[in-house]
Amino acid sequence: MIGPTLTLNDGLEIPQFGFGVFCIDGDNATQQATEEALAQGYRHIDTAHIYRNERGVGRAVKNSGIAREEVWITSKLWVNEFNADVAPRAIDEMLQRLDTDYLDLLLLHRPYGHYVEGYQAMEDAVRAGKIRSIGLSNFEGAKLQEIIDVAEIMPSINQIELHPYWLQSETKRMMEPYNIAVESWYPLGHGDRELLHLPMLEEIAQAHNKTVAQVILRWHIQHNHIIFPKSTNSEHIRENADIFDFVLSDDEMNKIDSLNKNKSYFDISDEEQEKQALSMIVEG
Ligand code: NAD
Repeated sequence: MIGPTLTLNDGLEIPQFGFGVFCIDGDNATQQATEEALAQGYRHIDTAHIYRNERGVGRAVKNSGIAREEVWITSKLWVNEFNADVAPRAIDEMLQRLDTDYLDLLLLHRPYGHYVEGYQAMEDAVRAGKIRSIGLSNFEGAKLQEIIDVAEIMPSINQIELHPYWLQSETKRMMEPYNIAVESWYPLGHGDRELLHLPMLEEIAQAHNKTVAQVILRWHIQHNHIIFPKSTNSEHIRENADIFDFVLSDDEMNKIDSLNKNKSYFDISDEEQEKQALSMIVEG
């Protein structure tokens, strides 16, 4: 395994560093990239039904020969799967696509549709031994509080957009009393070239003989964020994992924090996001 584990509020140990497969097109390319990551020591994979590549992840884990319990697998239910009469079957089908008896972590992907029913279906799946840990993605404000209030099993994680341009301080403050862990999506700003060439970050990188991408990923690690940068490039897969032999000083951490401008790369209104999410249907 690469890097440490973090203990979640349900007692499970999650590898803090992993591999994301969003935007890897199709099962074959996903299988290839995931096999590469597993061969390099990654032991945590983040996928979702809407990425349409869970079968590729499942095949890579099987082919790797690594014991199933040594790899942490996360997936996410899409919005059209939240209804109480749909979610239980959707979870069973997800396990089949991933070719596994259980999932380590299941998240509600977006806070739209019948998300309370979806959450309760995930709680039932925990009780049935199909899912080990459950959580949320992209929940904030009143909807995050609503789930916290109805939860019989507290969400262990909230996976949110988080990078040096958006620290998500408000949502993190809401999560803290419940020990809900932070997962950062777009940890590298989705590969934003401007961010990855920022002179201040280049200076810090040079001082540690590292790249800017490594400095940003290390900054996440020191903030206790769980991260799973995505790449299909072998060199980047290796580079992104090579962040556990240096430490950023408090001053360097503060400098990177000061880049915050609450900027989302997903620059559309919540109403528009909801409309888009509800119009996307994923099945099979
Ligand atoms: P990221 O910030 O990890 O950036 C990935 C991109 O950065 C790559 O496509 C590549 O172009 C570039 N890159 C990677 N390593 C690099 C390096 N060392 N040097 C230079 N460039 C490099 O963004 P992401 O992949 O979109 O997000 C990570 C993961 O987060 C996803 O794969 C997915 O698992 C998850 N995610 C979740 C949600 C959600 O709504 N829950 C949304 C987006 C992503």
